[in-house]
Amino acid sequence: MTTRSDVRPASATEVLPSSLPPRRHVLDLDDYSIEEIELVMQTTDAMGEVLRRSIRKVPTLQGKTVVTLFYEPSTRTRVSFEQAGKVLSADVINLSIASSSVEKGESLLNTARTLEATQADVIIIRHGASGAPNFLARCIEGSVINAGDGAHAHPTQALLDLYTLRQRLGSIEGAKVAIVGDVLHSRVARSNLWGLAAAGAQVVLCGPPTLLPMDWLRDQHLQGRLASISVTTSINDALDGADAVMTLRLQKERQQDGLIPSLREYARSYQINADRLKLAKTGAPVMHPGPMNEGVEISSEVAHGAASVIEAQVANGVAVRMAVLYLLATGRGEE
Ligand code: ASP
Repeated sequence: MTTRSDVRPASATEVLPSSLPPRRHVLDLDDYSIEEIELVMQTTDAMGEVLRRSIRKVPTLQGKTVVTLFYEPSTRTRVSFEQAGKVLSADVINLSIASSSVEKGESLLNTARTLEATQADVIIIRHGASGAPNFLARCIEGSVINAGDGAHAHPTQALLDLYTLRQRLGSIEGAKVAIVGDVLHSRVARSNLWGLAAAGAQVVLCGPPTLLPMDWLRDQHLQGRLASISVTTSINDALDGADAVMTLRLQKERQQDGLIPSLREYARSYQINADRLKLAKTGAPVMHPGPMNEGVEISSEVAHGAASVIEAQVANGVAVRMAVLYLLATGRGEE
């Protein structure tokens, strides 16, 4: 029989400095220290072990209710949160917006109050508006996990990207990570910047000038934290000697007119293809948060080739989200 201690990562409490305040929400990675990221990584290792067992079920979150509240489409993220909650024995309720009162115009605040009445312990929200999870977190008693809000943040994607990079590179410290594509609209890139900077990576953001968020990058608060970031419109400079390449989806649904001349032109200038990949270090992993526009930001050959770690990212998503749920629900592993 499995006991709670089977899923408590021995190493997690060892790396927990007593000065870390308890965390109630996961809204972005901007307030994560390297110690806390390390704790998530080590807890993920332990959760990966649970997932490799023949019976993939532990009672850690028995009696807890986890609600997924997705206002935007998702495949991987919602399913992996659901799977993570179920492996940890939580009651998981998926609130589909199309079949809820939200379709009838109910406000996020009213939806939050209804959820509060159901005593949800954790609400996992995806929303088109940046800041919606922060708003929800101010309104409810339980914990909120941001599963992607506008172009703002997607912290669990960044955590699973960090985990995947650590698996492939060993240490991220000092590694050159090229993030290429539609940075302007990418919450994945923004959350990754915080995580990668905390882990000591050298990040190079690359894309056409119209898809680079220069105003955001000029933000004082950000500049103080992210001295290790550079920005270039040259794909060759970005890939040159890179230890890892993170490809971003061209977010067609968020494009305004005139940001790119055409998909063909974009692909010609910025697609990660086999030829361009030769500029990176041999064996440099290629990542993509999905869903991919194959033939646009990434060639099919690279997406499904030896350098691709895209499937590993999806697989790691479940273990990382188990770790995040576990650490929220158990106060960072201290029961
Ligand atoms: N799935 C990721 C997100 O929700 C990346 C993307 O959609 O391009 O942000």
